[in-house]
Amino acid sequence: MTTPRTGLILVVSAPSGGGKSSLCQRLLNWSPNLIYSVSCTTRSPRGGEQNGRDYFFLTRSDFEAKITGGEFLEYAEYNGNYYGTPRSFVEEQLTAGKDVLLDVEVQGAGQLMKRIRTGRFAYPNSLVTIFLMPPSRELLETRLRRRGTDSEETICKRLALADCEMARWTEYDYVIVSGKLDDDFAQGKAIVIAEKCRAARLPKETKVWQQNEL
Ligand code: 5GP
Repeated sequence: MTTPRTGLILVVSAPSGGGKSSLCQRLLNWSPNLIYSVSCTTRSPRGGEQNGRDYFFLTRSDFEAKITGGEFLEYAEYNGNYYGTPRSFVEEQLTAGKDVLLDVEVQGAGQLMKRIRTGRFAYPNSLVTIFLMPPSRELLETRLRRRGTDSEETICKRLALADCEMARWTEYDYVIVSGKLDDDFAQGKAIVIAEKCRAARLPKETKVWQQNEL
C-alpha cells in the first residue's frame, strides 16, 4: 500500500498589474494535479467574469455570515471589498492529494502563514508562498495604465496599495521577479517541482513510494 500524500497549497501574490493571472493560468495548464481555488468576493463582476468560475460573487451580508461560520481559510478586506478562500474546498483537495493554487493578496497570505506557524491547520507542511515582484515601480505603473480599464483615481489607489504589498515580499518563501511570461513560468514550475520532492513533506511511515504527480 502506498501512503497517500497530501498536496501543496501554492499561494501566489503580486500587486495588481504584476502579471499574476497569466502566471497562474500557465501553471494550471501545465499541471493536471494543480487545482484553482475559486475565491468568494463582494466586489461586482467585471466584464466576462462568471460566478463560480472566476469568483463566487456574494453580498456583504452573505460574506459576513460565512466569516462568522468559520467557512474561510483566510479572508481580507482589500480595496473596499472582501475576498476569501473557502476552507472546505481546499481541505478536500489536499486530502485527495491535489495541489491547490490560491491567488491571494498579502494580508490573506500572511493569515495562512500565521495559521500554519501557530498549528491551526491540519496540513502544516502544505504551504508554499511565491511573491511575483514587478522589476520596477515604473514598469508596474506603465502596465496599469496600458490596461486602459481604470480611472486615474483607481490607478493612484492601486499604486499606493502596490507599495504596501511590495514591502512585504520578505514574508514569502520565494520571489519571482517578473519578466517575460515564459521566464516567470519556468521559475514557477521549478518551484513546484522542487517543493513536491521535499523530504520534509513525505509521510514518515512511507515504505512504498508513490511518484510525484505533477
Ligand atoms: P481583483 O479584484 O483584481 O480580482 O483582486 C484583487 C486582489 O484580491 C488580488 O490581489 C487577488 O490576488 C486578491 N484575492 C483574490 N481572491 C482572494 C482571496 O480569496 N483572499 C484574499 N486574501 N485575496 C484574494
